[in-house]
Amino acid sequence: MKTIFEKIRDKEIPSYMVYEDELVMAFLDISQATKGHTLVVSKEAFADVLETPDEVLSHMFVVAKKIAKALKQSLSPKGFNFLSNVGEVSGQTVFHVHLHVLPRYDSNDVTLAFLPNTQDKNFESLLTRIQAVLF
Ligand code: 5GP
Repeated sequence: MKTIFEKIRDKEIPSYMVYEDELVMAFLDISQATKGHTLVVSKEAFADVLETPDEVLSHMFVVAKKIAKALKQSLSPKGFNFLSNVGEVSGQTVFHVHLHVLPRYDSNDVTLAFLPNTQDKNFESLLTRIQAVLF
């Protein structure tokens, strides 16, 4: 079954397509969390960042930069978040890799808070465990 973004790619669902090339497309997010909120999406459907080939992923980020520069010039936000959710727990709802380009106009217009963690802060143990499997 096609993902919703494949249907957008194949023009079965309308979208406001900002940019398209062989590997990726960028269209306005239907939610417009902030003005100009844009999704950069791989043309081929990979579930998330971890499943996406490096050349596609790196190109997604290059395109996200281009889009952000265009948004900066056209809409004058004060900053940006580049965000990609992986897994339901993180808030991923569409399992087709995408990068949110979120223009920021105000420090309160998006809420994703990094709450201070008082436990699990054994840095030595964390480093050992992570580096044991890093390749
Ligand atoms: P996620 O929650 O997976 O990180 O983000 C999915 C995003 O896709 C949401 O921000 C949602 O608004 C957007 N979205 C879902 N369906 C559609 C659609 O049909 N058209 C557009 N333009 N955006 C969509």
